[in-house]
Amino acid sequence: MTIINNSKTDPNKILPMTYMWAREHYKTGVANNWTPEEVSMQKDVEQWKSDNVLSEEEKKMIMWNLGFFSTAESLTANNIVLAVYNHITNPECRQYLLRQAYEEAVHTDTFIYCCDTLGLDPEEVFNMYKTIPKIKEKDDFVVNLTQIVFDPNFKTDTKENIQKFLQDLIGFYVIMEGIYFYAGFAMMLALKRQNKMIGIGEQFEYIMRDESVHLAFGCDLINTIKTENPEVWTEDFQKESIRLIKESVELEKEYALNACPNGIVGINANQFVEYVEYIADRRLERIDLPKQYNTENPFPWMSQSTDLSKEKNFFETRVTEYQTAGNLDWEK
Ligand code: MN
Ligand code: FE
Repeated sequence: MTIINNSKTDPNKILPMTYMWAREHYKTGVANNWTPEEVSMQKDVEQWKSDNVLSEEEKKMIMWNLGFFSTAESLTANNIVLAVYNHITNPECRQYLLRQAYEEAVHTDTFIYCCDTLGLDPEEVFNMYKTIPKIKEKDDFVVNLTQIVFDPNFKTDTKENIQKFLQDLIGFYVIMEGIYFYAGFAMMLALKRQNKMIGIGEQFEYIMRDESVHLAFGCDLINTIKTENPEVWTEDFQKESIRLIKESVELEKEYALNACPNGIVGINANQFVEYVEYIADRRLERIDLPKQYNTENPFPWMSQSTDLSKEKNFFETRVTEYQTAGNLDWEK
């Protein structure tokens, strides 16, 4: 049994399952269900419209993160539906990919909701991936890295093409969702810790919780392909993967320094740079590549949200709510 290029796989026959990790991630995704409208934006609207709560710099930082995430979510969704889904025919993996695609739709919806409630210009927000160079550079880097997999004639039938497919998975799961998202998460959650824009902050926490599962699925997928096709995981390919990840780290550092040049109360801009390095090392280790930075985590408080153990209060309330959702009384 193999996860790609298996002519015996029937994509419609999900039982019995081979890859139980895919099933686990699916169940975790369902247990984490949420929608943006559940989060009140009332206080955010007051703060956004007030002249003395947010500095101009904070407003710019918020706009940049809304701008980056608003389109990064659909770039990610497109990759799942238009590229990955074609080549991963294993049914339990496809079940997870469908779940992930839905979550990306929820994330995109979050930015629609933010535009609506805060009265932002959607043309401005959803165009920032073209108009803000530091956002465009990040997106272009991943898009260029992964373009070939979108070719309708692309097949994972040779060693080189499996490597290209792996590069797509590294581009979207490790770099986009695993590295590019995290300076923005740290900024928005740092702001929330100052009691500013707490509605958006909570939405970013939910998104981050989802993304940590996307990332885990992506790494399990990459590692499975590696294990089943060891000939593709050459020294050169590993070196090239490290080089790409390091290049993306540089782009993410520049993004952080430009989005938030003077930091946020109690945090200097360089700590966001350190955080990106710390996160990148964790991603490298997750796919069995050597750490490159050995930077300490400048924001230990972030791991309370990223490591997502169910005993955390924030998550417990949500998860419980949804786990009982099956018993809804429809008479009411
Ligand atoms: Mn997402
Ligand atoms: Fe995602």
